[in-house]
Amino acid sequence: NPFQRARYMLSAHNIGQLPPDGGFEVAFAGRSNAGKSTALNAICQQGALARVSKTPGRTQQLVFFDFEPKRDEAPGNRFLVDLPGYGYAKVPKDLQAHWQAFIDRYFTTREALKGLVVVMDIRHPLKDYDLQMLGYAANRGLPAHALLTKADKLGRGQQMQAMHAVSREMHSRFGDSVSVQVFSGESKQGVEQARGVIAGWLGF
Ligand code: GDP
Repeated sequence: NPFQRARYMLSAHNIGQLPPDGGFEVAFAGRSNAGKSTALNAICQQGALARVSKTPGRTQQLVFFDFEPKRDEAPGNRFLVDLPGYGYAKVPKDLQAHWQAFIDRYFTTREALKGLVVVMDIRHPLKDYDLQMLGYAANRGLPAHALLTKADKLGRGQQMQAMHAVSREMHSRFGDSVSVQVFSGESKQGVEQARGVIAGWLGF
């Protein structure tokens, strides 16, 4: 599992602080409390990898994780990028505007960005924020993959029903570049499937 080598690299609060463009990166988006940190930790098989994204002051930054190179391997240019979950209500208006502009610029200009993972609570999918992020990806022809997480809270039948409903809605809004799966950071359901999608985008 190459994701086990993921490690915190840097946090960027403006375009100038991003690592050089030109590699391969996958961005993770999700509303606050959707389960994004838990999903990242499960995918990377690390207990507290994404905790850094939650430290005060980092909640409005892009948090980059790189991969520790294997012995005799050149330092890589593959990254996972944790986008701020929006706690809009808690954020001052000028910071919201800055964040919007930053994310907008990141999505429209970042060449290294190869795919978007949107983490949504399976019981509350496709809220405004999720649609906005999926819209950014679709506008650029970037593939997006939705993780319907906290699936352990539902039975199998309800999971499948939710997945088909979200799949239908995503395809009708955003076309063929979107996919969706059931996930649980708690039970680890769907973790391998998610790794497969992300590894493909990163060229692992
Ligand atoms: P984030 O704000 O999106 O990073 O969300 P967190 O990963 O911190 O999770 C928010 C809350 O949901 C925490 O209390 C987690 O324990 C819980 N949670 C996250 N993923 C799951 C899951 O797959 N199943 C269940 N039952 N709870 C989860």
